[in-house]
Amino acid sequence: MEQQGAGPVLVATWDFGPACVRAGLAALAAGGTALDAVEQAAWVAEADPQVHTVGFGATPNREGVVQVDAAIMWGPTHQAGSVAGLEGILHPVSVARRVMEQGEHVMLVGAGAHAFARRAGFPAHDLLTPAAHRRWQEWRRQYRDEPSHDTVGVVALDAQGRLAVSCSTSGLAYKQPGRVGDSPIVGSGLYVDNQVGAAAATGRGEDLMRYCVSYAVVAEMAAGRPPMEACLAVLARIAARDPKGTNMEAAVVAVDRQGRTAGAAMRPGFPYGVGAAGEVSLRQGGAVAV
Ligand code: ASP
Repeated sequence: MEQQGAGPVLVATWDFGPACVRAGLAALAAGGTALDAVEQAAWVAEADPQVHTVGFGATPNREGVVQVDAAIMWGPTHQAGSVAGLEGILHPVSVARRVMEQGEHVMLVGAGAHAFARRAGFPAHDLLTPAAHRRWQEWRRQYRDEPSHDTVGVVALDAQGRLAVSCSTSGLAYKQPGRVGDSPIVGSGLYVDNQVGAAAATGRGEDLMRYCVSYAVVAEMAAGRPPMEACLAVLARIAARDPKGTNMEAAVVAVDRQGRTAGAAMRPGFPYGVGAAGEVSLRQGGAVAV
């Protein structure tokens, strides 16, 4: 299940993962770095209106407004950038990158994040599609529980041994306005240590962010565990401590400096995309409870 060999290697969460991975590999083939790869991989899910949990076409909050969270982290300089509760920008991951590269802050939220993006030259872009608006209207009529949520999380190792990670999400469907998940929180939604590896988490942010899942996975890899063992060890430890046990919604993808990859979740049913040795595949994550 684990991939051996050096970069370039990319991993991206969920069944949109392979398409994202392909875009990331194309960025590398065009001379880009791992940072370019994780940014451009995330663009695919952000721009796809069929992906209802990320960017354009995402399910809005309970007031009918799409608010998104995104972050990016670059191994060689250990820099990070992140945005939360951002509205009206097509590629939140790129705003996060701009925050990082601007260098003054790590995280911007809400109206301030939008204003920063506009000043940086990002055009305003309505993220609410007619289809998502109709879903929201339907939801308002019925107020049924809507557990839907996912994140595009991407980890990459380039041929020069540089690691990067990104993530982007609209969070929980019909969330409370202002709700922020784990994704834009460094150490929780994503983490990279260029000497060790990178990880990105997906699942219910309220579950994940109390356990700093991505940092924990990188710490396990730093202690010598290969990525799959590291992911499963962290998830098992969380399940053992949490009242919800393996009913928690938590999954993680990881890559280490050696180019070994992993994806794992509390339970079976976590697909993720892997690009390595020129091939892209959709894999099923390892699980704590089988
Ligand atoms: N972790 C994301 C959030 O809670 C959603 C997901 O990855 O499923 O915002």
